[in-house]
Amino acid sequence: MFHHHFYGSEHIDRAVVQRRDETWINEQLRGEDTLFVPVWHGKVFVDRAEAEGDTQYRLSGRPDAPVPPDRRLKAVFLRSDETTPLLDGHRRAVLLGCSGKRTYFALDLSDMEDATKYRSLAGRGDFVGLRGVGPMLDRFDGGLLAYARGMLRWHQQNAYCGVCGSHTAMLEAGFIRRCIAAECSQQHFPRTDPAIIVLVTHENRALLGRQAKWDATWYSVLAGFVEPGESLEQAVRREVKEEAGISVGEVRYDSSQPWPFPSSLMIGFTAQALDDNIRIHDQELEDARWFTREDVDAGIEAGELRLSPSISISRHLIESWRMARGKETISMKKKA
Ligand SMILES: [Zn+2]
Repeated sequence: MFHHHFYGSEHIDRAVVQRRDETWINEQLRGEDTLFVPVWHGKVFVDRAEAEGDTQYRLSGRPDAPVPPDRRLKAVFLRSDETTPLLDGHRRAVLLGCSGKRTYFALDLSDMEDATKYRSLAGRGDFVGLRGVGPMLDRFDGGLLAYARGMLRWHQQNAYCGVCGSHTAMLEAGFIRRCIAAECSQQHFPRTDPAIIVLVTHENRALLGRQAKWDATWYSVLAGFVEPGESLEQAVRREVKEEAGISVGEVRYDSSQPWPFPSSLMIGFTAQALDDNIRIHDQELEDARWFTREDVDAGIEAGELRLSPSISISRHLIESWRMARGKETISMKKKA
């Protein structure tokens, strides 16, 4: 079963064939139906200036609850006639893809001292951090802005060749950077960092932990980056052992979510613990505990437990487990 998470971009056709066609790219750059996603120092442009203050809403949002109209935000785009003067050879747009009749590009304006003052953006909103406003956007805008920001961040960090240190230049509308030194010519491709995220259960309880830097009531599932030479299943076993001292048996894939803070791909699993003896080894977790569904209900009710944002895969894993209430009893009865 599929679960399409927020910050995904299933609705964008990434134009993998067309991106190699320079004539097509140049037509799209000037096209009437083309829209540009402006990004300035990693911030995205939305239509409400005070949006970033909405942190309380972001944190308290219930899964899949519709965003109330007064909190809703829209991404603001630039049209091709507004960006032509900006595309001067130094500044180049990065293709994102197509949706319906629209073609979308990402445009980095970080070289401007204050891009909010650019005449086509002035008075239309503000540049804000995506993490703060994500849940107030609709899924299309959320996925598109995450994608734009991720691509531009990669370009910004790969201006120099990691092999020889020479400059790199953009190819294929932004999906390759190639080293300009003829003797090197190394090609570099956009990257994302794989991280596992896992809901560990033991009978009718789930393992949730909290990091010291988090708000005191916030608990979440365990997560960590995949290391070189490691399979995803191995990373799940290592992280759970490392963070909570628990060995896990069966590991099952659930779904994945791009998490653009800054460039992770969260790969979600469920896993069964072989024992319930928690031992916190590393510095990462301050506390880890077993929660029954009733503990979670009661904690939320009393305001003593807060879960991850409603749009996160962490919350999805926890909510899927909460909804499966009673299923362990049935399978235990079957075994007996
Ligand atoms: Zn090089």
